[in-house]
This record gives sequence, C-alpha cells and structure tokens, in this order.
Amino acid sequence: MLQKAADEIDSDTPRLDAELLMAQATGWSCTSLRAWPERRLTDEQEETFERFLARRMAGEPIAHILGQQEFWSLTLKVNSATLIPRPDTECLVETALALALPVDAKVLDLGTGTGAIALALRSERPSWQVTATDVVPEATALARFNAEQLGLTVDVVHSHWFSELRPERFNLIVSNPPYIEADDQHLNEGDVRFEPRSALTAGADGLEDLRLIISQAPEWLAPGGWLLVEHGFDQAAAVQELFTAAGFDAVASHQDYGQQDRLTLGQQRAAKSNHYPLQLQEPTGC
Ligand code: GLN
Repeated sequence: MLQKAADEIDSDTPRLDAELLMAQATGWSCTSLRAWPERRLTDEQEETFERFLARRMAGEPIAHILGQQEFWSLTLKVNSATLIPRPDTECLVETALALALPVDAKVLDLGTGTGAIALALRSERPSWQVTATDVVPEATALARFNAEQLGLTVDVVHSHWFSELRPERFNLIVSNPPYIEADDQHLNEGDVRFEPRSALTAGADGLEDLRLIISQAPEWLAPGGWLLVEHGFDQAAAVQELFTAAGFDAVASHQDYGQQDRLTLGQQRAAKSNHYPLQLQEPTGC
C-alpha cells in the first residue's frame, strides 16, 4: 500500500511523504512502518490515509496535512496563515548563535510566522530576552501557541515590522522576511502555492521589506548590535549594499545548505566616545 501510494505522489520525496502520511493516519511511527510493512490498516485508518493521500496528490504541503513541521530541535504547529519553516533558515539560527553577544542579550525576530527562529534561539539561549513580531494575527496566535507548547518564553507582538514596538535597543535583530519577486515563476510550483503571498513576495524586486528592515534597524540596535537577515540566493550583493548604505560595519554574507548566499549580516557601529572635538584647555592659573 505504501509503495502504491508513493508511486502516485508527485514530489521529490514520494516514499517519505507516503510514510509520513501513513504514520499520521495510523499513529504508528515511521520506524515501525518500515519494520512491519505488511501490517494491515483498519478501515478507518485506511480511509484517513486515502484522504491525506488525495490532499498530497492535489499538491498540498506535507506540513499542512500533518499540521506540524520540525525546525531545529523543535516540533512546530503550522497552518496556512504563514510560511512553513525551511531547513535553510536553520543556517540563520546557527549564524546568530555564533555571534559574540551578551549573556542576557535582547533579541528581536521580525516576521516570526510560526515563531521558528525566535523559539530556536530561545531554546538554545534561555537567558536571552526574545521578542518576536508578525503583522498577521493568525501568525502571532500560532507563534504564541508554539511558545506555550514548548514552554519557551518569547514576547510575541502584533506589529508591522518595527511599527508597534516600544522604543528599545536590541543586541541582535533577525528576520526571514518575504523576499521573492512578485512575478517569480516558482510561486506556481510546489509548496509555495499553498503559503500566503504576504509571507513570500515583497514588491517587483523582492527587496521591499528588506529595504525597510535594513534602513530602520539602526534605530533599534544597541551599539555593536547585529542585524542578520535571510534573502534570495541572488540578492546578496543588493542586500550588502543596503547594509552599507544604512551605515553597518562588518557586512558579510553566508551560505545555506545548498551553497547559495542566503544570509547577510552587519554590525551597528559602536557609539563614538565623544561627539565633540576635545577642547584643550589653557591652564587657567593666575
Ligand atoms: N526560501 C523560501 C522559498 O524560496 C522563501 C522564504 C521567504 O520568502 N522568506 O520558497
């Protein structure tokens, strides 16, 4: 039954998809499915599996059918209100964790969606104070649900990027914003067809939201603080220019698991020690 299902699924990973759907339909683990492939399903399990299979064959993402997605070491609830967390975004988490930051760093995740980045960071650094924003109310609800479910403290704020935040200075700002060009053809293929456009596209060149985030971030960063963003595989040069224009130091790009430039980061200049030229005082003795 598994192999027949796998043959019908149009996906890069048809066998795995079939196993995941059968595991969900039966409550059995993938390991036990592989160990006892001849085990018979009850009529009810079979019906559920057939329904899942039909949805997958219509192109619906596995994560939406299962209602969850693994990210970092966390199982996150997902739904069609926001982006399904991608493995490549784990590179952003790794890069953030490698930065030298205060033990009690204040960290902001803009456009958190499921809460993936914010929750992964908080799970690794329990002493960080993590704030996460999203403009979509269903996404903030989802991020709060995931935080509660995982027992991780993240302050989730309903906000369009920085707009509703209380004035504060962060040591690290991270974001995986929408960055796909509005008329990109791959929006008509695969999982992205089932994800909200607002989480994927940002203007004709895909840089609209990155421009806003990068230009406003300096007002929200502490001296020496970092901004780290994910972007399209061909946007590193443009994004680096935006960082430099906004006055960032140490601007650099990093690759994702597919060796594509996918992340760019920069550091807020440390505060100048003295804005005024030092006045050499004449001795005022009599
Ligand atoms: N990396 C995702 C994709 O190409 C898009 C993520 C995003 O827009 N932030 O499907």
